[in-house]
Amino acid sequence: MQRICGARAYGPDPIKNSFWRASVSEQPNWMRPEGAITCDIAVVGGGYTGLTAALDLAEAGADVVLLEAEAPGWGASGRNGGFCCLGGAKLSRKQFVRHHGETAMREFFAAERDAVSLVAETLDRLAIDADCHSEGETQLAHSAAEMAGLRASVPVLRDLLGIEPRLTEPGDLAAEGLASPEFHGALTLPVGFALNPLSYALGLASAAAAAGARIFASAPVQAIAPHGAGWRLRLNGAEVTARVLVMATNAYGAEDVPAWMAGRFMPVQSNILVTRPLEPDELAEQGWTSRQMCYDTRTLLHYFRLMPDNRMLFGQRGAIRTDAAAEAAIFADGRRDFARMFPSWQAVEMDYAWSGMVAIARNRTPYVGPIPGGPTAFAGLAYHGNGVAMGSYAGGLLADLVLGRPTRRPYPTVMRAPMGRFPLGRFRRAMLAPIYTMYQLGDVDWSKRPWSARSGVA
Ligand SMILES: Cc1cc2nc3c(=O)[nH]c(=O)nc-3n(C[C@H](O)[C@H](O)[C@H](O)COP(=O)(O)OP(=O)(O)OC[C@H]3O[C@@H](n4cnc5c(N)ncnc54)[C@H](O)[C@@H]3O)c2cc1C
Repeated sequence: MQRICGARAYGPDPIKNSFWRASVSEQPNWMRPEGAITCDIAVVGGGYTGLTAALDLAEAGADVVLLEAEAPGWGASGRNGGFCCLGGAKLSRKQFVRHHGETAMREFFAAERDAVSLVAETLDRLAIDADCHSEGETQLAHSAAEMAGLRASVPVLRDLLGIEPRLTEPGDLAAEGLASPEFHGALTLPVGFALNPLSYALGLASAAAAAGARIFASAPVQAIAPHGAGWRLRLNGAEVTARVLVMATNAYGAEDVPAWMAGRFMPVQSNILVTRPLEPDELAEQGWTSRQMCYDTRTLLHYFRLMPDNRMLFGQRGAIRTDAAAEAAIFADGRRDFARMFPSWQAVEMDYAWSGMVAIARNRTPYVGPIPGGPTAFAGLAYHGNGVAMGSYAGGLLADLVLGRPTRRPYPTVMRAPMGRFPLGRFRRAMLAPIYTMYQLGDVDWSKRPWSARSGVA
């Protein structure tokens, strides 16, 4: 298996101090693969994409095997920020229209909303208790210019999403329990909610198993090759033959499993810190009591939420390198940003810190569709750090495609566009440093710099 990040990213180290793992008491005992296994459909990857596909396929009566290298929910799905929200592409509205046209943008935005509803319905239908909170999501402006942008976006969002955004002017933030010297106002969209991501993933896995999917853990697929009219998947000590293949490995995929994956996804790290539970007087002192899931207006954004047990979760982009030293440095940056945003909590202990990887596509929209050039195979990936809802949605679409039935939910045109390859092949992550630098410069609030060319924008 040729993976392009440092080995540490695929091992236990990045999640040994994950809050979600500590919050979920029991991991089921999953089967280990042995010998020759035959099935109709093999799903590779046990995150939201693979688990939702397996669940839907099993519920439709299909003979499905899911192979997960570690354990269901081990990848991004069991270690994310738990923001079940709009998103999935990494394009501004203008870029979306320029690249794909207005109709395609509206189609995709409708799917984003639908994806959030899908997760809410699934949690309800399967009675998964995932500690949900937050009424929609709140974006906080990190500069006065960004607040002006949020104000201007209200009619556009209303028209595009068919929902009523709500603005909070700077003077009203404290009254909403969102007091911070960092922010210049906010915009709330009444769509989305926060959840415990690992509880959701494990709930999906248990439901898929109960519906008849054979779920295997400790099952890293080492190689995949056509075999007659189907596929042969080679594992350590086991071999799986299947008529149809579904790839759901997202950022944790390999260049050669199968060969089509090579160069088609960019793994990028994201980091999360979680404080100890904050006392009511500490919340009052900072003036932050809101349970809204929040993120700021930066391109390299921060995402944060006060969880039901009064711990503050604080996430941000990860390091470029995957070694422990690079990760420690980025956690220190996170700690510094956290202290700036929440000065009253600057000395509060961080009980948990972990990282994981998300996938970017070259055209910056998710892909759900066939893997061409061989027996029947499909892939779903690249949600650009927003895969709680969109990965689940993709899994549902994959199940429909495999079964050859009309998709039960809209299948946006942009998600069907063939995935292009990044330049530089397996060295493509070398592009991240200049891109991050460019984004960082764009994210600076220049009005706060004495030498600012843009001071006075406010
Ligand atoms: C720190 C962090 C914070 C995030 N926060 C949010 C958020 O708040 N909201 C949001 O919407 N999204 C968030 N995301 C993104 C979201 O978690 C992902 O988009 C989503 O979980 C992707 O799901 P997936 O099933 O496609 O992939 P994953 O959950 O990554 O699952 C892929 C699985 O494939 C397995 N695998 C890979 N190769 C093989 C192989 N050869 N054989 C067998 N198994 C294999 C891996 O072990 C892994 O478990 C975050 C991600 C991270 C890392």
